[in-house]
This record gives sequence, structure tokens and C-alpha cells, in this order.
Amino acid sequence: MPGELKIEVDRDLCIGSGDCVDSAPAVFELDDEGKAIVLDPNGAPEDEVVDAARNCPVTAIFISGPEGEIYP
Ligand code: SF4
Repeated sequence: MPGELKIEVDRDLCIGSGDCVDSAPAVFELDDEGKAIVLDPNGAPEDEVVDAARNCPVTAIFISGPEGEIYP
């Protein structure tokens, strides 16, 4: 079990580039407005979710876990 990750997308920051979806398609999806939403926070291992957040060009993805903030 990969601890409980809390993943949030700041929709005001998101520019809909889709990088997060490419990095972790089971976790992120673009909605009807072309902005990222979280489908399943446990859809990928933590390191892949963090990589997806790192790949976001506007740092709109925020990840935390039981121990506090993980990224950024
Ligand atoms: S990578 Fe960032 S800007 Fe691109 S869709 Fe995902 S959250 Fe939005």
C-alpha cells in the first residue's frame, strides 16, 4: 500500500498542457474545460505521481501525504 496521497490541481494555474496525463494517465485526466482533474490518487506509485507533478510546466500539482508536503 502506497500511503494515502493527497493530490490537488490548482485549476487557476493549470493551462491544460496534458503533461500530467501523459506521465500518469491513471491518475490525471483533462476535463471538459481542458483542465486537469485527479481521477485516482492511487493510480500510480508515488514516484510517478511526483514525476508527473514535476513535469507540469506551471507547477499546478500539489502532493502531500501522511507526513506532510511531498511536492513542490
Ligand atoms: S501538467 Fe500541469 S498544466 Fe498541464 S494539464 Fe497537468 S496540471 Fe495542467
